Amino acid sequence: MVYFATAKAGLSLSPVSGFATLVWPPTGIALTALFLFGWRLWPGIFLGAFLVNFMTGAPLLVAMGIGAGNTLEPVVGAYLLKRFGFQQKLSRVKDVVLLVTYAALISTLISATIGTSSLLFGGTITLAAYPKTWAAWWIGDMLGDLIAAPLLMVWIQNRRLQLNLKQLAEALLLSLLFIALGTVIFGDIFTKASSLYSAPYLLFAILIWAALRFRTRLVITLNFGLAALTVLAAIHSHGPFVGKTLNERLYSSQLFIGVTAVTFLAFAATMSERKQAQASTYKLNARLKKTLALRTAELRKEKEIEKLKDEFVAVASHELNTPITSIKAYARILDEKLTKGKDKKTAQLAANIDKQTDKLTRFVDELLDASRIESGNLVFHKSKLDLNKLLKRTITDFQYTLQTHKIVDEVGKLPLVSGDQNRIEQVVLNLLTNAVKYSPKADQVVVKAVTDGKQVIVSVQDFGPGIPKKDLTKIFSRFYRAADSSKLQQAVSGIGLGLYIASEIIRQHGGKLWAESKLGEGSTFSFLLPIKK
Ligand code: ADP
Repeated sequence: MVYFATAKAGLSLSPVSGFATLVWPPTGIALTALFLFGWRLWPGIFLGAFLVNFMTGAPLLVAMGIGAGNTLEPVVGAYLLKRFGFQQKLSRVKDVVLLVTYAALISTLISATIGTSSLLFGGTITLAAYPKTWAAWWIGDMLGDLIAAPLLMVWIQNRRLQLNLKQLAEALLLSLLFIALGTVIFGDIFTKASSLYSAPYLLFAILIWAALRFRTRLVITLNFGLAALTVLAAIHSHGPFVGKTLNERLYSSQLFIGVTAVTFLAFAATMSERKQAQASTYKLNARLKKTLALRTAELRKEKEIEKLKDEFVAVASHELNTPITSIKAYARILDEKLTKGKDKKTAQLAANIDKQTDKLTRFVDELLDASRIESGNLVFHKSKLDLNKLLKRTITDFQYTLQTHKIVDEVGKLPLVSGDQNRIEQVVLNLLTNAVKYSPKADQVVVKAVTDGKQVIVSVQDFGPGIPKKDLTKIFSRFYRAADSSKLQQAVSGIGLGLYIASEIIRQHGGKLWAESKLGEGSTFSFLLPIKK
């Protein structure tokens, strides 16, 4: 019935050859109906088209042919739109392009061709009238798809206004201005004063305003209003599009309506996509900011905990020093007394206390050093160092404490370097201790030292199980103990600070400490010190 009524109204407007009208909203209505409510509505379209043409005077078969063409057109149009993912909101440029090409330009060829051909074969028109009739048919249908279809689609999709009070006021003002200016232009109100008042493109300013500030829906509605106004003016021989006959006036009007509609549909969709992109960027930014704030808070907390830990280690290790020193002193006295009293067995126990206390002292010293490094308080007393002497003495002293390994001295002649004697000694001792500790089945450790005049490289090589590649750099970090040597690890005491402290000491001397290793063959730890002239 809707199809029939709008078709009847269209046909009353000076149709070309009696049937091809330049104003044909039914095309848009049919497309929307099939696209939104499904194929099963096609008989309604056929019936509407058939009846309206039959009643206008087309022979039965011709009316049926026209009805078939008018039905096939929206079926194909709706099918193509669905196939290519058209969305009825028309808020993407893609949707506008799909509507313009598949519906308005392509599907309308079907109805124009079948309809005009039916008229020709039915003898209603001559071959000479064919092109004119065909063109009017095509353009009329095209505008139905460009004006009526978008209006129905966007308003069916969402019937609520979704504007706040301010926006509503702006939209009303904009629409009133549009109507007023439209009336002035198409009603020839001030044409006598100046031809400027008949310039239809003045309305573009308001369409641009609508596209910039509102959703596509307002632009589509204004497009419809403009089309209605233009057609109305043409019917009443008013407005900028002049011509002798209604048909001539309708032609230029339709051209204007079509170009304006496509332009502003595309523009509004572009703006809508832009707004959407901005909104999602904004959302993303907000999310990022939140995550960043959370992470910063976490980091701050971690830092605070780290600081507390460091403080605790510093205080605890400092406080442990005094009782350990006392225990050591008492153990010595006990040992001496028991040895004098010939109680050798008990004296051995006292000696064990003394030895274990030494281990405890080393742990506490390592903890203290590590906490000093963390707080930047590791101080150095640098002087000219004779590395040859230092290495010889350290090796000899260390050899005294060993029964299992022989330390092989392959130290070459070295120049003086600048450094803190105690700290460098600490590094060498640490490397020697590790080499022995982590090669319980081997019987020697080799110490080498070479120089090229610019730097000295000292290395300690053992013949233990070696260190897995993935651990080679990690073992220099705080509390890290290589997991793979875990069996060995359990047997060997340590807290994973020695190499961390050693590498820090060497680093602060302007050198570096590193490790090389082959699993099953052993490891070599080397440090490099620059020679300053
Ligand atoms: P600790 O010996 O107290 O565990 P270190 O910082 O001195 O701490 O050493 C870190 C880790 O490096 C050790 O736990 C051990 O796994 C590995 N490591 C050090 N030296 C050797 C070595 N010569 N051979 C094999 N592994 C070693």
